[in-house]
Amino acid sequence: MLHQPSLSRTLFVRRRTGNSKNRTDKNMKAQTPINMTCICCPLGCDLTINKSSAEFTIAGNKCPRGKKYAIEELTAPKRIVTSTVKIAGGAYPVIPVKTAHAIPKEKIFTIMRILANVEIQVPVHVGDTVVKNIADTGIDVVATCSCGRGVRAAEGA
Ligand code: SF4
Repeated sequence: MLHQPSLSRTLFVRRRTGNSKNRTDKNMKAQTPINMTCICCPLGCDLTINKSSAEFTIAGNKCPRGKKYAIEELTAPKRIVTSTVKIAGGAYPVIPVKTAHAIPKEKIFTIMRILANVEIQVPVHVGDTVVKNIADTGIDVVATCSCGRGVRAAEGA
């Protein structure tokens, strides 16, 4: 039997992906108003964005973060990248890492390719820099857990 995603999930995915491709000025004019969900907090406000000449008008946000999120998502989308890198001498073969801040979305695949070739040594502590200035973004990749010699310590240890 085919797995059918729930209707609410289907609608969410369509709304999030359908409007996010090729948001050039020309496309935005053709698509306005644009609808998206703010993902900055669990409230998930439904945002409506209109673009008139050089200005965005945003409605539906319950706080200023929604406006900032909408404009950034339309002009220069960013994401935090989470992944793993190989670690030698630890209890496990890999350790979880993430970018310390959000990076430009178009750099995600470049960063993943770089991380696939990184191998570090124990000991590593949570927050340690694993790769500095990854893909010339000015942002470091950091460890999100600690790992000692043959022992994987709890996060924050
Ligand atoms: S607009 Fe503000 S309140 Fe609404 S989801 Fe975004 S961060 Fe949360």
